Amino acid sequence: MTTMQSRSTQKSEVYFGRAKRVAPGGVHSPVRGFRGVGGTPRFIESAQGVCLKDADGNEYIDYCLSWGPLLFGHQDPEIAEAVKSALARGWSYGTAERYSLEFAEELIASLPFVDQIRFVNSGTEAVMSALRVARGFTKRDLILKFDGCYHGHADGLLVRAGSGLAEMASPDSAGISAKTASETIVCPLDDEAALKSAFEAHGKDLAAVIIEPLPANNGLLIQRTEFLRLIESLCKKHGTLLILDEVISGFRVALGGMAELTGIKPDLVTYGKIIGGGFPVGAYGGRHELMQMVAPAGPVYQAGTLSANPVAMAAGHAMLKKINRENPYARLAETGAKMVADIQKIADAKLPFPMQVQGFGSISWIVCNAPKGTPVRRIEQIPAEQKPYYAKIFHGLLDRGVYLAPSGYEVAFLSTAHTERNIDFTLNAIEKVFGDTQFK
Ligand SMILES: *Cc1c(COP(=O)(O)O)cnc(C)c1O
Repeated sequence: MTTMQSRSTQKSEVYFGRAKRVAPGGVHSPVRGFRGVGGTPRFIESAQGVCLKDADGNEYIDYCLSWGPLLFGHQDPEIAEAVKSALARGWSYGTAERYSLEFAEELIASLPFVDQIRFVNSGTEAVMSALRVARGFTKRDLILKFDGCYHGHADGLLVRAGSGLAEMASPDSAGISAKTASETIVCPLDDEAALKSAFEAHGKDLAAVIIEPLPANNGLLIQRTEFLRLIESLCKKHGTLLILDEVISGFRVALGGMAELTGIKPDLVTYGKIIGGGFPVGAYGGRHELMQMVAPAGPVYQAGTLSANPVAMAAGHAMLKKINRENPYARLAETGAKMVADIQKIADAKLPFPMQVQGFGSISWIVCNAPKGTPVRRIEQIPAEQKPYYAKIFHGLLDRGVYLAPSGYEVAFLSTAHTERNIDFTLNAIEKVFGDTQFK
């Protein structure tokens, strides 16, 4: 990796032009389209370790990591080996098989709050299915979620706090009926009083509360553990199930995610991203009596033609074995904390506005024009300057060979493959960008 980039983006531009003709916005998942930062998305041709290489031959140190899944970086050799040997035995059986059995056994042995698990193909599916189990078990209809948490694109969760009636949700996307939105209650994060009053008003009708225990899809909105504990205790009191959506935090901050770190015991938990080792896997799991609700054991229907795909199971299992053997989290957290402190120092010295650098383990997020020392825990605390200032920082770093997520509301991830040299290179680039950019 060098500081000299060819910086031509000619091929990416041609490909993007073609892509826009055949796919909405030229992409197959919205944030990839660079709408949040402007410019042309880079067409990546290969990736190895922490390095992305684009069609024009530019190289980037990757802090997006496929949006989190690649805990060990691109093409981890152990995962690659497991995938190759699975491929050689056929890649889809549509039958009972041993890949998912052995993976599930090791997961359950590693996750004390999961008695049984069901594999699906994405985080969205895991969340949809967990909600169905919660409704089936409690025979209640309402769900409570928090503004600023993302749970995938299932209709009932693609909602936000309404402006009118307290707590009643409005659709956050076209195509979602008002009736569906009305079955979700939305509360602000980090607000005990709002949560208590929502439970007073709706507690007896609430099937489940769902939360990202480490909200990391709308910036990194780190919650106080006392707030999470209040959710747990209100759920208990009202017979409401607690669903921890650990799609992004599971296997990222600890093997058992935030449940392991906080000691909060979810009734149901959802996983995605890392669990497939970079292949499309999601999963939901929890207490035995809840999971026994799921077909064919019970009356809650949920199925998937390609679920528990052997190649994806092999990748996920190889990743889990490596986690269990190496326990990389202390080292990742140490590297993460040092990087956050170093970026904060550079920001304080170089930027014409205050920046708050927030980190948790190997996840970090920069908040532009936010006073230092006041943690941002709710979406309305994110300054309006975040979008335009982040866009400039993003492009400055991209030009210097550092790839962040192309949106100021997405976080950065470290992998075990990031070396000290990679990080020094990145800090140098950050210093130049923070010092040289005209923000106004
Ligand atoms: C990414 C994410 C999802 C959605 O997962 P997909 O695999 O993109 O469907 C759901 N919940 C959380 C917390 C996530 O981070």
